[in-house]
Amino acid sequence: MQIKRMNRWINILLVLLFVFAASTVSAQAKNVVLLIGDGLGYTQFWAAQLYSKHILGRDLRMIEVMKAGNTAYIVNDTADSFVTESAAAAGQIATGERMFARALSMKEDGKTPVPTILELAKAQKNLACGLVTTSGITDATPAAFATHVSHRSNEEEVATQLLKSNVEILMGGRKQFFLPESVSGGRRKDGRNLIEEAQKLGYSVVGTAAELKGVTGSKVLGLFNMANMNYEIDRKATKEPSLAEMTEVTLRILSRNPNGFFAMIEGGRIDHASHRNDAAATIHDVIAFDEAVGVAIDFAKTHPGTLVILTADHDTGGMAIIGHSKTSKEYVGIDLKQIKNQNISFELLIKEWGKNPTPALIKESVKKATGIELTDEEAQFVAADTIKKADPYNYSYDYLHSLAFVLRPYYRVGFASQTHTASPLYACGIGPGSEKIQGLLHNTELFTIMKAALQLK
Ligand SMILES: [Zn+2]
Repeated sequence: MQIKRMNRWINILLVLLFVFAASTVSAQAKNVVLLIGDGLGYTQFWAAQLYSKHILGRDLRMIEVMKAGNTAYIVNDTADSFVTESAAAAGQIATGERMFARALSMKEDGKTPVPTILELAKAQKNLACGLVTTSGITDATPAAFATHVSHRSNEEEVATQLLKSNVEILMGGRKQFFLPESVSGGRRKDGRNLIEEAQKLGYSVVGTAAELKGVTGSKVLGLFNMANMNYEIDRKATKEPSLAEMTEVTLRILSRNPNGFFAMIEGGRIDHASHRNDAAATIHDVIAFDEAVGVAIDFAKTHPGTLVILTADHDTGGMAIIGHSKTSKEYVGIDLKQIKNQNISFELLIKEWGKNPTPALIKESVKKATGIELTDEEAQFVAADTIKKADPYNYSYDYLHSLAFVLRPYYRVGFASQTHTASPLYACGIGPGSEKIQGLLHNTELFTIMKAALQLK
């Protein structure tokens, strides 16, 4: 009897020890795919999901990751502000340390580099690495993972450091920072041609979707636009690859490395569309980002050691789905069919306006771009740029915020600002290590989760 009881206690003790060990040793990942929607706040996500479900007839792929159960609230305050920008946000995810605004993975002194998850993965495990965006490859989010620059605006220096970093896959826009001023469109003052230098370093350099499709090498520099890549809504006539296509090629090439890989994939222009308070352009760019998320999910299903993390760096614009049309007595919410009718981005639309657009020109061009017939009063409200005049710090773009404001009762989508907000975000994941994405996390903790999953020191 005594021995039986002792055995039972020993068994209970062993079970407890096992549970304790399992909770302290994290699952090991061979690959990490980190997907960042720049400016992808909760409303950007939900507006795109409503559009996808009711107009396109399918749920966003992000929903699959969220429903897997490893989802957390994310907050993103920085070393010097409650409202972050992309350099500090990406730097915090990349390094695990609180950052100062506009510095790329640097300590407070602006001179001391803080090692990033990508650099640790490369140095300690010889992982292959990739950085992909629809914004510029020299823009803050990709830059924070592989460069150390005291101010994000020094994109010439970012391009130089990106090549030096030996990141195998680099794709996005802003080719201008790789070319000397002597070449048409080039912005480099030091006269260097980084594209020729990249070729000497073994990179296949590609500039179109067709070229990307045919790429065979293990190092790729894809520069698809002199400036940012186009908004999804403006892509009809471009030769640019989609973010999903870039992601597919990236994962295919990086997964040839037997040690594994780290890839950061950014939907970079969601942010730009929301800065301009352009709900339709925002939704289309979220859906393009979501298709890249789908590529990562499908990859993870056939490559079980892959940790996929989906998150945002910050909300942009304080987007909100609002209740009423001009005449509704009951809540009606977002008008998805009306949003579907918009055929170009606000940014392109406004280019036709010049410096002092007349109400007649505004009415005509808005009708052509959206099908909406503004009233004379609404057109006058935009021509007078009423919103910018009322709050020029929070609404700094000419005419765009006044346009978005008069379109509010038509679209039933509003924006609190032209810039970022401190709205909490979310992160979710699948694969080894994702079980730690729970509760309320600071974005620096995403670094810790990736580092543990890859078993880096
Ligand atoms: Zn931004």
